[in-house]
Amino acid sequence: MNPRKIAEIASYHAHIYFDGAEQRAIAMDLRERIAERFTVALGRVHDRLVGPHARSMYQVSFDVPSFATFVPWLMLNRRGLAILVHPNTGRELSDHIDQGLWLGEILPIVNQDMLRDETEAEEVREPNTAPTLLP
Ligand code: ZN
Repeated sequence: MNPRKIAEIASYHAHIYFDGAEQRAIAMDLRERIAERFTVALGRVHDRLVGPHARSMYQVSFDVPSFATFVPWLMLNRRGLAILVHPNTGRELSDHIDQGLWLGEILPIVNQDMLRDETEAEEVREPNTAPTLLP
């Protein structure tokens, strides 16, 4: 089997999970700090379970060059939150299940039938943050 090429990666997601009021407060604080420091697309906060995610979360969509600074910054600043970072290669199912990396606790990916392989690889969404601080 030929190794897959990193050129397949169109963008990345970080799913930032939280459980309970204390973790929610940390997650919202982290969200502000991300917006101050990174050019990313911050998704809505889902207090209810959505899609294949087993815990409340919000999504951060970011481009390939941002990985080198954003992911290490999350390593240093996640404050106990579970985070899934996965590539978007057009294989939604395996991108979430097999290709992701977890910071902290590994959570199940539920409702896997909602995820499809052979979709268009998701380009990073239009960034909606305007950083004012260095990471
Ligand atoms: Zn995702």
